[in-house]
Amino acid sequence: MDTNDIKKDKPLDFIRQIVADDRASGKHQQPITRFPPEPNGFLHIGHAKSICLNFGIAEENDSICHLRFDDTNPTKEEDFYVESIKKDVDWLGYDWGDKLFFASDYFARLYDFAVRLIEMDKAYVCELTAEQIRQYRGTLKESGKDSPYRNRSIALNLELFKRMKDGEFTEGSHVLRAKIDMASPNLNMRDPVLYRIMKVPHHRTGDTWCIYPMYDYTHCLSDALENITHSLCTLEFEDHRPLYDWVLDTLETDCHPRQIEFARLNLSYTVMSKRKLLKLVEGRYVDGWDDPRMLTISGLRRRGCPPASIRRFCETIGVGKKESWIDMGVLENCIREDLNESAPRVMGILDPLKVVIDNYPEEQSEEIEAKNHPQKPEMGTRKVPFSREIYIERSDFMEDPPKKYFRLGPGREVRLRYAYYIRFASMVKDEQTGEVVEIHCTYDPQSKGGSSPDGRKVKGTIHWVSATHCIPCTVRLYDRLFLTENPEGDKTTEFIDHLNPESKIVLENCRLEPGIVDHPPGSRFQFERQGYFSIDPEDSESGKPVFNRIVTLRDSWTKANR
Ligand code: ATP
Ligand code: MG
Repeated sequence: MDTNDIKKDKPLDFIRQIVADDRASGKHQQPITRFPPEPNGFLHIGHAKSICLNFGIAEENDSICHLRFDDTNPTKEEDFYVESIKKDVDWLGYDWGDKLFFASDYFARLYDFAVRLIEMDKAYVCELTAEQIRQYRGTLKESGKDSPYRNRSIALNLELFKRMKDGEFTEGSHVLRAKIDMASPNLNMRDPVLYRIMKVPHHRTGDTWCIYPMYDYTHCLSDALENITHSLCTLEFEDHRPLYDWVLDTLETDCHPRQIEFARLNLSYTVMSKRKLLKLVEGRYVDGWDDPRMLTISGLRRRGCPPASIRRFCETIGVGKKESWIDMGVLENCIREDLNESAPRVMGILDPLKVVIDNYPEEQSEEIEAKNHPQKPEMGTRKVPFSREIYIERSDFMEDPPKKYFRLGPGREVRLRYAYYIRFASMVKDEQTGEVVEIHCTYDPQSKGGSSPDGRKVKGTIHWVSATHCIPCTVRLYDRLFLTENPEGDKTTEFIDHLNPESKIVLENCRLEPGIVDHPPGSRFQFERQGYFSIDPEDSESGKPVFNRIVTLRDSWTKANR
């Protein structure tokens, strides 16, 4: 099933319904949405939900979604993040066309709007300190107090605001505030700050400005300037909506987008806030922002997740108004379902055990035809070399197997996938440790292709690689980074205390069928019976691939499977 099928089966979510109604009523022929990241960190899977929603709605309505950087805090923002965010959105499969914007492009117009608010006596320059502003604001139970600067003349406010802009005052000494209502039950409406002084160069505007507009003021006006129709944001902005509307109503902007809030994505077994992700990186609990265990978009990409699987996930979880938790298993399943369809099969041995086929001629080798996908003949076949010495998975042999074990053991016969039946002959043990180091078998030349020569059945089929032809490689088995569903849920512990010590296991001695070296970095495969893996784009060298496990074949985390 591809994501389009999921869409067809599902009723519209409440936001898509609003968009559809607005089209039907003629209010908006063409919905225009935007994705507004702050370039102060890497995007994570929560952002993917917002990206898929905003770009998805535009795509479904033959319209366009703007990519707008909300770059109003120069202390935290960098070009480096701008580039990483563009790369992530593009990788997810979305196109902003020529609609790439920066809030900083509007600084001059935002300044003019602020002047207009002052002229309307709807904004004033305040000299209370940040701490005093907090005290004057009051609480949910108590109304606030007017600032002593609230009733300055328009002329004085205009002069002071200009002097703020001209750099005459120190940081923190003056702010511009909206003049709304200090008794409003909504704290956001108690004369919110619109501009603050920051003598910090901006990554795009350099030293042009030393006053910067606040998010709430910038966001609604940027939306209006871009003719956005539906401004979608997460629920914590619900209480900011009256301010969004107040700014646009007061300034009587031509365009007044509708802000609609939806529930943010919360995902179990991970943390999502940028601050916590940063702590994981800086504390070296992970190998950087794109560590395959990180739920950043760059981490998911590095791990090998197909972008379609992330879109499928966002489609599956839907969009609602109620806060909820999504189980990590849902994401893993979306990735698994995608790869089950798309990933070619290969044979790889993670923990090799040598098998010598005594009756196979020493100098001989042959090419075995193997299917690239057992259910998809259109994916074709490949040739896999076979020879007298092969490797099998150590766990596919047991000296003293229990009843239900159908793989190799003394006296047993099994099928080598696509190749031959082999029968156990003898084993060689390490004299010191007693560990089995080599198995000897005989093969039945009549069973070529793995088919039965005489109706005789074998119960087990195992995978293998030719010892003389295989290529050695490193495989990194990644698993969930945290052991508990909500690493942040317990007040007595730090989220770091919940890290999974086995989230990364590096296997240095793996063996793969040789054809794999022809595939470029990033290629994804199913290692038969083992899971889905991809060639790491950074750490692989030509002829020496490093593989990341993307996901196991089955969910081993749900309680039923434990
Ligand atoms: P964080 O709080 O995780 O550090 P942020 O909200 O500061 O992220 P922004 O750059 O402001 O990051 O977010 C850009 C957009 O992504 C916003 O519209 C925001 O609402 C949305 N977004 C962020 N986190 C989530 C989430 N968990 N689920 C859905 N949307 C999200
Ligand atoms: Mg935010």
